[in-house]
Amino acid sequence: MKALKIAKSPDDAIKELLSSLFENQKIKGVFSLFYDQDYFYGLVTDKELFNKLTPTAPVMPANGGKMLSRLTMIEPPAVPIAVVLKPCELRAFYELSKLEQANLENLIFISFVCAGVLSLKEIKNNIEEKVANANQKQGLRECCQLCENFVPENADLILPLIDGDNKTTIFIKTERGEELLQGIENNLVEEDFDSAKLSSIKEERSRYREKTWQNLKTENLGIPGLIDIFGRCINCHACGRACPICYCNLCYFDSADNDSGPRVYEAELERRGALRAPSGTIFYHIGRMIHVSLSCVGCGMCSDVCPVSIPVGTIFTRVAEETQRLFNYVPGRNLEEKIPISTFEIKEFEELGEA
Ligand code: SF4
Ligand code: SF4
Ligand code: SF4
Repeated sequence: MKALKIAKSPDDAIKELLSSLFENQKIKGVFSLFYDQDYFYGLVTDKELFNKLTPTAPVMPANGGKMLSRLTMIEPPAVPIAVVLKPCELRAFYELSKLEQANLENLIFISFVCAGVLSLKEIKNNIEEKVANANQKQGLRECCQLCENFVPENADLILPLIDGDNKTTIFIKTERGEELLQGIENNLVEEDFDSAKLSSIKEERSRYREKTWQNLKTENLGIPGLIDIFGRCINCHACGRACPICYCNLCYFDSADNDSGPRVYEAELERRGALRAPSGTIFYHIGRMIHVSLSCVGCGMCSDVCPVSIPVGTIFTRVAEETQRLFNYVPGRNLEEKIPISTFEIKEFEELGEA
């Protein structure tokens, strides 16, 4: 594979490359994570602001795939824009494009091998210090510790981030990536993307995943288990709002149709003699599971925003693993693959029907 070597840290190497692409009019702007008193996603067309780029920082203030979908949903950009996203954010963006909520046109994708992000609760104080001292174990989102899809597959340019200090390799994955660098970079080398170096991280994550699934017994995913886990849910719907895959433009659970009148409450009281408030919390989570489990990318945004610390992302990732396995579907793996729920196969799951 062709690769570009830059003797700088990954963030500085990305900034240098993007500045050079901008000066050569190959791109007109950058969508990425920025830092200016706090971390945020932004689209920047003023080159002076590129120095605020911090694309590989271990922070996800919102899922970048969802943020980018908001900008491109109605129309794609009219000019080429470079986009730097973490692997799960990029996969979420691809899923949203399949759901016609994002547009890929005129976007050039850069991604990197991801060591995970710090939990938002972890970094609410001393953010700079915590980011500077981030390592693979302390304060990482549980979903990141479980994540086996941390190597990006569908970007035009990818960075392995394992070269050591001040050495960065940028691999060119697609023809579009190659076209982009034509006439800009003459120092390309041929090099293999050494995924073996990443296998120890993958093994460690698989072990953690296995242990977590053992603790989270399958019977906990039945109704009594879900009541146990989501019992303290205050029904704020923050998990759904932060989720890149919760794709309905108007959520049924936020609509007037979801409100129950006094007759419903009376019937419930007659039947049980008691009414729990807020009501309908388990129904909300089951509804969300049905909607998102085929495309859930395991980013952990939902856990991070939950005010009562329910491990929403861990539960959803577990359910998603089973659902996705049934269809051999990996969200965001391949743009040509349709989301299974959007297609119909005559001979699918015959064993579930009548003989
Ligand atoms: S879920 Fe995976 S890809 Fe996403 S931030 Fe965590 S480690 Fe990175
Ligand atoms: S359900 Fe949670 S883990 Fe899955 S995509 Fe949505 S926010 Fe991310
Ligand atoms: S964010 Fe937490 S409290 Fe709010 S609806 Fe989701 S699980 Fe319930």
